Amino acid sequence: MSSEAKKSAPVPMLDVGRGNLPLKQEFLEAIERVIDSGRFLHGPEVTELEKTVAHLSQTSHAIGCASGSDALLLALMALDIEPGDEVIVPSFTFFATASAVSRLGAEPVFVDIDPMTYNMDPECLQASITARTKAIIPVHLFGQCAPMDRINRIAQAHQLPVIEDAAQAIGAAWDDRPAGSWGSVGCLSFYPTKNLGGMGDGGMLVCNDDAFASKLRLLASHGMQPRYYHKLVGINSRLDTMQAAVLAVKIKHLDSYTQARCAHAARYKELFQASQLHEIVELPRKQPKATHVWNQYGIRVPHGRRDALKAHLQQQGIGCEVYYPVPLHMQECFSDLGYSLGCLPNTESAAREILHLPVYPELTPAEQESVVEAIESFYMTGAYRRVA
Ligand SMILES: *Cc1c(COP(=O)(O)O)cnc(C)c1O
Repeated sequence: MSSEAKKSAPVPMLDVGRGNLPLKQEFLEAIERVIDSGRFLHGPEVTELEKTVAHLSQTSHAIGCASGSDALLLALMALDIEPGDEVIVPSFTFFATASAVSRLGAEPVFVDIDPMTYNMDPECLQASITARTKAIIPVHLFGQCAPMDRINRIAQAHQLPVIEDAAQAIGAAWDDRPAGSWGSVGCLSFYPTKNLGGMGDGGMLVCNDDAFASKLRLLASHGMQPRYYHKLVGINSRLDTMQAAVLAVKIKHLDSYTQARCAHAARYKELFQASQLHEIVELPRKQPKATHVWNQYGIRVPHGRRDALKAHLQQQGIGCEVYYPVPLHMQECFSDLGYSLGCLPNTESAAREILHLPVYPELTPAEQESVVEAIESFYMTGAYRRVA
């Protein structure tokens, strides 16, 4: 079965068309309603979506904005983060988690991860708090929540606000409490690859404090209240009505998308175990308290073979990707912060070894078999040995 001659149909890393096609008529009708209404900004669809997201996040407020990156920036602005402040973030995350801090002239302080979950290690967090620390941003990476009970305990002991970067974790929970509802504020993204992906950029903030919610809303609209009277120097960051209309169609299916992702993760586990591959590559682990929504399914490839396996899979037409090859503390733009290789060992080895496989809801069982067979062929044929 694992002969190199056998080559099955290509498996894309992500195919947004499969999920969107069955909803196409509904999208067109929703977009038509927006066109006819002429309310391209601040339309009723935005308010409706905010209500739905607040409900699923179990928060009293949700505020639409232009992207997940802007959500992070707005959260930090609302906390009055300024030059001289430090904000603790993981290094193993998407760039926006840390760039929002830098944009305000503050300093991202990078901490290491728990190698089992890839999420912020609470002990590293504890050790990095200084008199200048003004906020903590845990990231719920790949769809699994960071240990929010422990992180909140540390934050409370130091009276520090927590901003949850839940861009990859809509619908996830820790100890049955939704992502975004643990911190002072939660940041969501509707970028097309996220679990609730729009047709362009979009984001949302969720929180429970009335005054803080008003401040976020004010900052997202030029700090303007009333019209042409500016209380604060804000930015222009809106979720537009068409995007909200599209997302309103998709959010009704979010539970079933999540269930499909979970089923795929369980099936990968079975397939890897049946082929004994789980003894070679390391499968992702879920914490007992986590409700994992599997935005990404990442395996760890030991012995320096990750890039060779990636090349082999691509050559076989199997989509795969590395999130993230360069940790943020090693990025050129952060070189003046003074980090060097070896500073965050768990982050660095994760960046060297992790490889993500397709896990989008519409993936078929046959495709998952093709993915695992292609990995098997790497190890069972000469491919594994031939590479350096
Ligand atoms: C996608 C993502 C963001 C940014 O969201 P955008 O909507 O693309 O701006 C921030 N943090 C994490 C962890 C992300 O995955």
